[in-house]
Amino acid sequence: MNCKPKVLVEGDHFYISQCKNCKRIGLYFNNLMAGFSKDEFIQFSSAILQLEFNDGQIIFPDRQERIVIQTCHLNIHFTFAEEEFETLKENIAQAKLLIEVGDVISIK
Ligand SMILES: [Zn+2]
Repeated sequence: MNCKPKVLVEGDHFYISQCKNCKRIGLYFNNLMAGFSKDEFIQFSSAILQLEFNDGQIIFPDRQERIVIQTCHLNIHFTFAEEEFETLKENIAQAKLLIEVGDVISIK
């Protein structure tokens, strides 16, 4: 079955979409693109939403503070400056809500 992505949230260099068929979720943000099953996305977004930028920021060699997020791949991490991290959290919260509401509607 072909994927039919439906955009859930979008902003500047940002969108989260969900496939109408397989329900997989795609996250695009600047040069980051990640795919999740629905459960993986709910897990990922819950973990991100619990994090505060000040819990784990690191000063990089360019003197910019960034938070480092582990992924399920040991050697790959995401990094976000504070503003990017807040953008990520806002959009993820919105997408998570839409996905959860979508579940409730499709159960009926
Ligand atoms: Zn699909």
